[in-house]
Amino acid sequence: MQQLLDFEADDLAFIRQSLARTFGRLTHFERREPVWRMTRSLIGCRTQDEVAEPALERLMARWPHPRLLAAASSADVEHVIGDVTFAEDKSVNLVAALRWIGRERPDYDLSFLRSRPVYEALAWLERLPGVGPKVAAATLNASTLRMPVFIVDCHVHRVLIRFGYVGRRATAKQARDVVTAAATSLSADDLLELFVQMKALGQDVCQHSTTNCAACPLTSRCRKIAWTPPAQGFKSPPGRSTQARPRGSASRALERSAAAGDPSNLIRLTPA
Ligand code: SF4
Repeated sequence: MQQLLDFEADDLAFIRQSLARTFGRLTHFERREPVWRMTRSLIGCRTQDEVAEPALERLMARWPHPRLLAAASSADVEHVIGDVTFAEDKSVNLVAALRWIGRERPDYDLSFLRSRPVYEALAWLERLPGVGPKVAAATLNASTLRMPVFIVDCHVHRVLIRFGYVGRRATAKQARDVVTAAATSLSADDLLELFVQMKALGQDVCQHSTTNCAACPLTSRCRKIAWTPPAQGFKSPPGRSTQARPRGSASRALERSAAAGDPSNLIRLTPA
């Protein structure tokens, strides 16, 4: 059984204060309806934000209601989002997930999740094809639902491990749950801001293959734990290979360890 390291109670406050000084505060964020936030997060996995966001806009322009998108063929969806990484698998997953939702919630209104405990709402979402811990958390936190759960993408996961906030073998889901459990005094907006700031740190300072600890605002408390890059993979549709199959420009983005791009493309950080 994987062991999570204990962390000092004030580490989270230290991280928040340090990152806010460096990256500023989250002053603007466009919250989408949960089903569209789910869609954005699902197609954005391991794809740069500047690719994923236009892909979502093309989807919404062609199929303005999730019911219409659910009725589309995965081939047509793939044609529209062809420049995102794993476009074929994501298209299959997205259509399957939306059809699943449509069977249980014909109006595609996921606002009922707001009345459920966070972990129950996460579990409801994680049954859906292509919806893992990050997509589920983003759907709840970064949508109009505004639920208090921390989003952990590949950048944030890496920072949390190197910092020593979670054990080096902690999964992204475990890291998400550890921070969420420790952050009971934080609002959904606070958690979203922390995600965006920590993602910026992972992209700019604590990168996949290099660290700039001398310039890092967390260096005084960071345990600088050795981090081993995980095997690249993707939650493939049932019956499909789990082998990663990056293509084209998206492949190059993956090689650069591009972010699981959600949702910081829509924010503006201003200096504190
Ligand atoms: S001090 Fe170094 S290892 Fe720790 S979070 Fe900052 S860049 Fe990463």
